Amino acid sequence: MKLIAPEHSPPFDAAQKKAVRPVICYPVDDLKPADLATYRAARECWMRVQTILVPPREARCFDVPAGYFFRIISTDGPQVGDLNLWNADEHAERFFSGKTRALHGTHLSTGDRLWSNMPYIRAMATITEDTLDWYGFDEFGGSVHDVIGTRCDPYTHHLLSGGQYHHCCHSNLTRAFAAKTGRSLHEAEGFIHDVLNVFMCTGFTRDTGQYFMKQTPARPGDFIEFFAEINLLGALSACPGGDCGEEHSSDTSACYPLTVEIYRPAAPPVHWQLSPPNGYDRTHGG
Ligand SMILES: [Zn+2]
Repeated sequence: MKLIAPEHSPPFDAAQKKAVRPVICYPVDDLKPADLATYRAARECWMRVQTILVPPREARCFDVPAGYFFRIISTDGPQVGDLNLWNADEHAERFFSGKTRALHGTHLSTGDRLWSNMPYIRAMATITEDTLDWYGFDEFGGSVHDVIGTRCDPYTHHLLSGGQYHHCCHSNLTRAFAAKTGRSLHEAEGFIHDVLNVFMCTGFTRDTGQYFMKQTPARPGDFIEFFAEINLLGALSACPGGDCGEEHSSDTSACYPLTVEIYRPAAPPVHWQLSPPNGYDRTHGG
């Protein structure tokens, strides 16, 4: 955090420097926008092929073939979910929340894409509907579905509070990924990555820039829907923080299940193609 009383005096032109207008780091105007009309047209004759229940304080994995849709649904009560995504055929390729944030901002909604890590960097999924899009940003700068948090984890919990807590999202995702892939817990842990915080309401305080959370506005029936641009393996944890209105990393908050539904369209969206590999040649100037 910045010092309340800085140790160094400002230069004579400090006000002028601070008044310089910011520019967007990554204008996404050149990225092909998601053609929502064709994605949504593909939903008309779709069929639900699988429903996965994620119990409170646990995680579950699910497969979504390229060209299918999936929804994460708040069913029983206000509940936050932590989402990991991998290329189902190559688990080294995984969701890159940092670059997704740099491209689409701190909180995601309809039309945004979920990008994969280097050296892959391509669209893994596209958000095709978000029933919480009405929320926008509140007076505190908070919004839902962030890519600014990481995931609750037992290491940070131990640093701040001591003890051994085993149902943080990091551990839940680790157990689910290990069970799904046959890897040991130790090996599986290295594949767990920063998440999309589904339904979580978060932001940074204006005065100190600290990460904050507040109770999710999600009501039963709210959902966020994705289209799989490649074959996906997903894992979703029902965060032990429940609605994340008070605390996480404990068993004290009310916690509810989340539902994942997988849908197969009768035909893929018109003109849709698999997300292509990144075009950079990887020679790095060498
Ligand atoms: Zn969590």
